[in-house]
Amino acid sequence: MRTTDAVWIAPGEPQEIQSDLVSRFQQEYGRAASGTWFAPGRANLNGEHIDFHAGRCLPMALSHGTYVAAAPRTDGRLRLRTLDASLDDGVTTVNPDQIGPEATPEEAHWSHYVSGVLWALRELGRSQPTFAVDEGFGADLLVVSTLPIGGGLSSSAALECASILAFLALGTPFGQDNPLQDLNAALTRENRRDLAAACVRAEVEVVGAGTGGLDQTAAMRARPGKVLSLDCRDFSVTPLDIGCILRGYRLIAVDTGEAHRLADGQFGDRRADAEAAARLLGFDRLRDALPERPRKADVSHVLEEFDRLAEQLETLQGRSIDACRRRLRHALTEMVRSEKLHHLLSGEAYGVRHIASTVGGILTAGHMSMRDDAEVSFDVADLVVETALAQGAEGARLIGGGFGGSVLVLITPAAIPKLTVALERISRGIRLLDVAPSSAAQAL
Ligand code: ADP
Ligand code: MG
Repeated sequence: MRTTDAVWIAPGEPQEIQSDLVSRFQQEYGRAASGTWFAPGRANLNGEHIDFHAGRCLPMALSHGTYVAAAPRTDGRLRLRTLDASLDDGVTTVNPDQIGPEATPEEAHWSHYVSGVLWALRELGRSQPTFAVDEGFGADLLVVSTLPIGGGLSSSAALECASILAFLALGTPFGQDNPLQDLNAALTRENRRDLAAACVRAEVEVVGAGTGGLDQTAAMRARPGKVLSLDCRDFSVTPLDIGCILRGYRLIAVDTGEAHRLADGQFGDRRADAEAAARLLGFDRLRDALPERPRKADVSHVLEEFDRLAEQLETLQGRSIDACRRRLRHALTEMVRSEKLHHLLSGEAYGVRHIASTVGGILTAGHMSMRDDAEVSFDVADLVVETALAQGAEGARLIGGGFGGSVLVLITPAAIPKLTVALERISRGIRLLDVAPSSAAQAL
């Protein structure tokens, strides 16, 4: 009989992964790695498609993530290889004149995430001398990940954040002053915020993906045992204890096995719909359309205003008015859900008797909004949510940008065996990851 263990993706033993990676590095490049850096993937309780509207997001780091072994070069080149079977095409060499938004080749390649990060760190170093990358700095890098790639658990930000720490350690005054693991203690909150912002620049300006900063903030600033309540108006974070949800429950990320295709324009399209709605309402950032502590009635008021302004229009800058209204409704209700969770987890849950079921209800409402209003869900994700709820989960929702990706499930440990069997029936490609809120990016 098949055991259900096969469907779980283990985070692995960091020290073993590191020592394997370091030996592979020696074989690959014929020299020793100078160090290894790690950055986690993330799951998000709530806050999809609203980071770029300055909404609140509630991510936490997974113990699964991406490891980068590296050694410096003095010829400005990057030599990069990934051990991910589906992306590995041997060593890619990136010359100094191929680094940066204008210089990066058109055709998509995973190496652009890494070369983009080196460019963004150089840019950051212009205003912060301690981050200034040495003239002629380059590096050899070997990458391995325990995350599903393109699975909505943010493997891209994990790759960026592990790489930026490697570059920081090997090519800047900051790294020279704080060798190896000293780097972890030396990195201040502000440093981590700035490095996350540099990784966002790499993904937006070099790779050309419409990321809003949620993923990079989670990877760079997460805390063990905590959900980060991230206010995207100013990127301030409040770490909130998640123990009150997890008492008697577990969070599981279900990787549907359908990798998303954000770059094919659909994600950008959804974002553009919502931004058109914001412009009609006269807001640069949709978060400003709602009060500090928004409620459902505030969402209705904004929608009424939208209807009034759109009444005489046939389209909104060539976009369907109905579609823009649905994206608007997703963004606004998602913001209300985030604020609710923030207050619930901030200790205002006092008096809420069954917090797991309240949180579960918010998760499931978030899924319905992703499905019907954002319209970024897909059949397998809907089926996973339905199945999880039928197996007694308190709640379940699609997380990540959508069009593929993973579902987050809140469930009792006792119900997990039946859930795994039911999920296996949906698709052989389904994998499960335990979500145990973990540490941020670090030197190992
Ligand atoms: P997600 O971040 O949800 O996993 P994205 O589409 O944002 O999905 O990012 C996936 C892309 O990031 C991959 O197609 C690849 O280009 C790059 N990437 C992520 N992890 C790795 C890795 N371990 N090795 C090489 N490239 C990676
Ligand atoms: Mg990503």
